[in-house]
Amino acid sequence: MLTPHSICLHGSQNVGMNDVYISVLEKQMAQKKVTKKRKHVPHRICIACREAVGKRGLIRIVRTADGVVVDLGGKLPGRGAYLHSRIDCWRIALETNLIGRALRTRVSAEATQKLKQFSTTLVETVMASDNA
Ligand SMILES: [Zn+2]
Repeated sequence: MLTPHSICLHGSQNVGMNDVYISVLEKQMAQKKVTKKRKHVPHRICIACREAVGKRGLIRIVRTADGVVVDLGGKLPGRGAYLHSRIDCWRIALETNLIGRALRTRVSAEATQKLKQFSTTLVETVMASDNA
């Protein structure tokens, strides 16, 4: 039962056996499913820095009939875009009209003003909750 190979793996025979077993299973699964689909993770991309993050940590901005608003509850219907909850990303997005482009709409001066205002309040709130 003891072969020289099993010792090379992880110094433990059992772990070595397990590894082999799993890799065989994976091969079988790979043969069955040739689809390239990865596990679907609810990752969003911050429109400013293009970093993919989990939904948490991003703030949704949504285009509604009344204009572009911040959707803190994440429940407003409509085309949405995501931004990090850090002011840097908001600055970039607001200065370069990334929000308007992402939402395929024109962000009114009023809405921009509101978003700017929101972004300034944001930093403190988020920092506080980050520490918690
Ligand atoms: Zn970002």
